[in-house]
Amino acid sequence: MTSTSLSAISSPATSSSASPHPAPANGGVRYDWSLDDIETLLALPFNDLLFRAQQVHREHFDPNAVQISTLLSIKTGACPEDCKYCPQSGHYNTGLGKEKLLEIEKVVNQARAARDAGASRFCMGAAWRSPRQKDLDVVLEMVRQVKALGLETCMTLGMLDGDQATQLADAGLDYYNHNLDTSPEYYGEIITTRTYGERLETLDNVRQAGMSICSGGIVGMGESSRDRASLLQQLANLDPHPESVPINMLVKVAGTPLEDVDDLDPLDFIRTIAVARILMPKSHVRLSAGREQMSESTQALAFLAGANSIFHGETLLTTANPQLERDRALFDKLGLHPEQREVCHSDSEQQQHLEAAIQRQATESLYYDASA
Ligand code: SF4
Repeated sequence: MTSTSLSAISSPATSSSASPHPAPANGGVRYDWSLDDIETLLALPFNDLLFRAQQVHREHFDPNAVQISTLLSIKTGACPEDCKYCPQSGHYNTGLGKEKLLEIEKVVNQARAARDAGASRFCMGAAWRSPRQKDLDVVLEMVRQVKALGLETCMTLGMLDGDQATQLADAGLDYYNHNLDTSPEYYGEIITTRTYGERLETLDNVRQAGMSICSGGIVGMGESSRDRASLLQQLANLDPHPESVPINMLVKVAGTPLEDVDDLDPLDFIRTIAVARILMPKSHVRLSAGREQMSESTQALAFLAGANSIFHGETLLTTANPQLERDRALFDKLGLHPEQREVCHSDSEQQQHLEAAIQRQATESLYYDASA
């Protein structure tokens, strides 16, 4: 840790007597965070932590803009991996239907609907350990066609080798999602069918191919505060940082080994978001799975802590996600607006798109039901 960074982190013992106007947060980007640095941040008095996070946030982003992504499961269930939180794992009986890879046309229709509803990024997820080439060929075409709609594209397909990553990059894929899930120390409690090192290798292959990285984790899986610090350390010491950092709150699904794990205090979730914002000041920090279970107040605190990306209006893989209208109402209450994508012309136009989609949603099913 540098002396600058030490002075930038006030300890819990001293912060209560610190100036109410502490020195501006360090707006620089670092890749050398120690576990102690991060634990100190996590343990700050709540108000001090949120103040710091909001300072950092305002140095790099419009504080009232939230990037909106929509996620479509393009292949659901029967995954050979044993992630203990996941209803898509073939190791657990969660009653989830198994789906084949969706047809390209259906995916493109969903992407168009998402774009018209104000989404700037369309994320497609497949429950694979790693894509086979014949599946990858179909996926590459999905990327090309969704990209042609003017959307940013993101995929999560499991592990990628260098050649697979290059093929996706050449097709125009903008982001690849591959979460680290938890700390290296706690990882063995959650997944045994792939290693932490393999996850890091996939992220490296994605980066080498020139794509942006979306990588985060899940909290509330019974891990300790030190595990959350260690997960954040792994993410924050990637150079460059992941452009998107989803922080998920575990959604407990009956039939998975984590169905009865103790709840995480929502304030500890907010602390995790705030520290992610401070450590990775230029990354989009995403409120992801678990939002359905959160109160509006918790979500508002998450935005205050520096979250500036959400999924909305779709089924977040297999867990329920708040619907478009509720999101719109929350945005209105908080004075938030969607972060504009480059091809979007104005707030009012995006608002019109949103209004039209809400109207349509009232009369028809906007999204493909992958379980039908
Ligand atoms: S999280 Fe992904 S890799 Fe793990 S079981 Fe679920 S679908 Fe498979």
